[in-house]
Amino acid sequence: MVEQEEVLRVEELRTYFYTQEGVVRAVDGASFAVKRRKVLGIVGESGCGKSVAAQSILRIVPPPGRIVGGKILYQRPLDGEKMGSAFETVDLTELHPRGPEIREIRGGEISMVFQEPMTSLDPVYTVGDQIMEAITLHQKVNRREARLRAIDMLDQVGMPRPEETVDSYPHQLSGGMRQRVMIAIALSCHPSLLIADEPTTALDVTTEAQILDLMRNLQQQMGTAIIYITHNLGVIAEMCDDVAVMYLGKVVEQADVDAIFYNPKHPYTQALLRSIPRIGQKTKKRLEPIKGIVPDPYAIPQGCPFWPRCAHVMPDLCDQVPPDYVPVAPNHSVRCHLYRQEKI
Ligand code: SF4
Repeated sequence: MVEQEEVLRVEELRTYFYTQEGVVRAVDGASFAVKRRKVLGIVGESGCGKSVAAQSILRIVPPPGRIVGGKILYQRPLDGEKMGSAFETVDLTELHPRGPEIREIRGGEISMVFQEPMTSLDPVYTVGDQIMEAITLHQKVNRREARLRAIDMLDQVGMPRPEETVDSYPHQLSGGMRQRVMIAIALSCHPSLLIADEPTTALDVTTEAQILDLMRNLQQQMGTAIIYITHNLGVIAEMCDDVAVMYLGKVVEQADVDAIFYNPKHPYTQALLRSIPRIGQKTKKRLEPIKGIVPDPYAIPQGCPFWPRCAHVMPDLCDQVPPDYVPVAPNHSVRCHLYRQEKI
């Protein structure tokens, strides 16, 4: 059931890849919700299923992957107004991945910024053409109006001399400028939800800080909800209102950003936080790496998938029975046997 304040609710999503070597359960029962006008951070180690969850929402999971279970409930504006107040709930898993309805939603209402802008932009078209294509695909405007809007979007994302840059090719721009173009394309139709998949990974730290500022400012101006995917907890602290922590295809904890940083419940979240440096930390204590390695995706452990690495493992329970995802406080849920008694 989607609540009024939510733009998207993912329930028990399962996306599996059927390879010759076996089945990879990339997303295996993930549940999370994105509130309207808020930023949800999805954090976890490489291979935990963050990007596949995003691809599942947009129905662009590459073969041999496919959604095999769960729901992706999107609150679609009824009146055509992106920020309107009347909505219908659409289960995106029930749409054909190449059908007209998902093509309208993808790019127009839910858009995405990928990790590496050079591979996402077409090298033979100018950046202006690529922004205009996104605009004319989803809005009834002529080319002249689309060009004016493309220049305006480039201006909004802080591009210098947007009237000239609009006619540049991607290779003529720096990495940071190309990522600004990707953000301009993604926001050109004023989507209800923007999915940003590690958008600053390929950038240096100064440009990363500028892009984060830009996204946060545009998000506040336009009121777009964002799913921000990253492995960087520093970025989560700066960008996000709510956080979902993923481990081996499951969301193991979701809460608001303060609860995740100051009152983490799941042993994996606690271990993640102990493994990062903190500014102002006075003690000379060494950082603690998370013990063990991420298991082979073809052989995910039975029971709680974190048990081989967990300091609180309870033999004959954690390695046998998968824990339920239970609320431990309002707006705070955890998937761990330690909290079985705290159901509210
Ligand atoms: Fe650790 Fe058990 Fe909780 Fe898993 S369920 S995180 S193994 S205590």
